[in-house]
Amino acid sequence: MRRRGDPSGRKAAGAVGYLVLARKWRPGRFADLVGQAHVARTLENAIRQERVAHAYLFSGPRGVGKTSAARILAAALNCEKGPTHEPCGTCPFCVEIAAGRSLDVLEIDGASNRGIDEVRDLRENVRYMASAGKRKVYIIDEVHMLTVEAFNALLKTLEEPPSHVLFVFATTRPTKVPATILSRVVRFDFRRIEAKAIVGRLQEILKAEKIEAEEKALHLVARAADGSMRDALSLLEQACSYGGGKLSAAETEEALGVVDEEHLFAISRASRESSPLLAMETVEEAMGRGRDASDFLLALEEHFRNLLVARVSREPGALLDAASETIARYQEEAALFEADDLIRMLTLLGEGGRDLRFSPKPRLVLEMLLLRLVRMDSTVSLGEILKKLGGAPASAPVPPEAIAAGRGRAAPAPKAPAAKAPAPSPTAPSAPAGKAPSAKSPPEPKSPRAEAPAPKRAAPPGETPAPPEADDGPGLFRSKWDEFLREFQKENAVLASLLRGSRPEKAGGGTLEIAFPRGAAFQLEQVLERENKRAVESAIESYFRTPRRLSAVLGTHAGDSEREKRAAVRDDPRIGRILDMLDGEIVD
Ligand SMILES: [Zn+2]
Repeated sequence: MRRRGDPSGRKAAGAVGYLVLARKWRPGRFADLVGQAHVARTLENAIRQERVAHAYLFSGPRGVGKTSAARILAAALNCEKGPTHEPCGTCPFCVEIAAGRSLDVLEIDGASNRGIDEVRDLRENVRYMASAGKRKVYIIDEVHMLTVEAFNALLKTLEEPPSHVLFVFATTRPTKVPATILSRVVRFDFRRIEAKAIVGRLQEILKAEKIEAEEKALHLVARAADGSMRDALSLLEQACSYGGGKLSAAETEEALGVVDEEHLFAISRASRESSPLLAMETVEEAMGRGRDASDFLLALEEHFRNLLVARVSREPGALLDAASETIARYQEEAALFEADDLIRMLTLLGEGGRDLRFSPKPRLVLEMLLLRLVRMDSTVSLGEILKKLGGAPASAPVPPEAIAAGRGRAAPAPKAPAAKAPAPSPTAPSAPAGKAPSAKSPPEPKSPRAEAPAPKRAAPPGETPAPPEADDGPGLFRSKWDEFLREFQKENAVLASLLRGSRPEKAGGGTLEIAFPRGAAFQLEQVLERENKRAVESAIESYFRTPRRLSAVLGTHAGDSEREKRAAVRDDPRIGRILDMLDGEIVD
């Protein structure tokens, strides 16, 4: 059976050269395990209480500490001073285990030892005792790669494990591990490590190594590592060797090939100033430095997402993986944008990503996209006009969680309570007697096309509309949707603006499906994010007086937010007066 440390092994090849820091700083105690405190604490307690199980499954993404935790557990049990929850790290047992040389701790790569013969070998091996008084520990990495026959053979051992044996299985894909195995192991789920925790650990290591580094550089490394401590250390190594010892942000950008922050801010400035020239020059410079068009676009999407977070959140620091100086810069830049505009820009960039991936000329697609971005109409002037006229409702402060979801990246869990749904207004006229809305169980639809009668007139401005009675079919929701959004706007401006352009599509059986305009995938994704979805559902319940599970689809209709905006302008009496004075008209 081939072992992990073997130079002919799959994992050893390729990684050579960048393993110095990663190997040197492999955690040796549970306390050093970054970002997995829940696992560390439970294992420490198990050792203290002498209740260590016979088999564990460590699941989680690559590079987050599964194998390290397994080795620490092995050392904790076999340390000269052990069993102890804090292995000494210096006795011969600890040293051998850390180096992967211990005869009592066998690391097996499930990917290259998949078959029944290997597992038979293992079962044979299990019968031999460990050194006096020690536990024999088998660490099987990527255990989901084993064949069915191998699993069955393994199962026999797991059913009656010898008391001196401990199995630790590690996997990145727990769903591929058979249920018969899962039911015989104690399972721990390892988490992707937060960028902040990675930065903290890198700072400790660099301090000990006496290497100077800019905080910004460490954030670049942490972001590129995407939750993996192992990747972070090898990227750090790469950046250090490039920079000749000292770690600057500029050199780290160069070494890791990440998109230059200056370029990203140049693009947002170009869009503010409607400057196609600046956008084109920036692309030219970035491409000239060897950046890839699709990487550039991805970075740009994240950049605009950060701007949006900085624009609407009271504490963007909690939601952005960035150095403090970068966060301050985002706040400054974001103040120059309207949240609505940022959302539309994100939508545009999201659409562009799809075109770009399938295009033989990605740079051309990127340039066209940026030209559209800088030529985008702004809603700033309209908002400003209303504000100057006075009486425009101040936009409500927005809780950070309303926009907490990143695009596929792990966002830190929000700590503040969820956004409050609009409470029914006490001044709202009640529904006609005898037709009280049934709040809990909406009636089954009589006919799939059942439509509520259209409202005779729109509610006069300032008056809270009467909550309509519960009925199925989308008609009711459709006829009141705009009014609902206007009400919701007062409670949660960002969520309401994300919902703009959506329309109720289907209703029935306690659900409501809304369709977003084509191209509004970003808005759809944000609205369906757990906290947001809950807030919308609760607002729907209190406005329409019927609880609904919300679902959403991407429709085929064009976004009508522009049309609505113009209509809103036309209907605004103050604008009308100005237009009268100026003898002007609105041009569509
Ligand atoms: Zn020891």
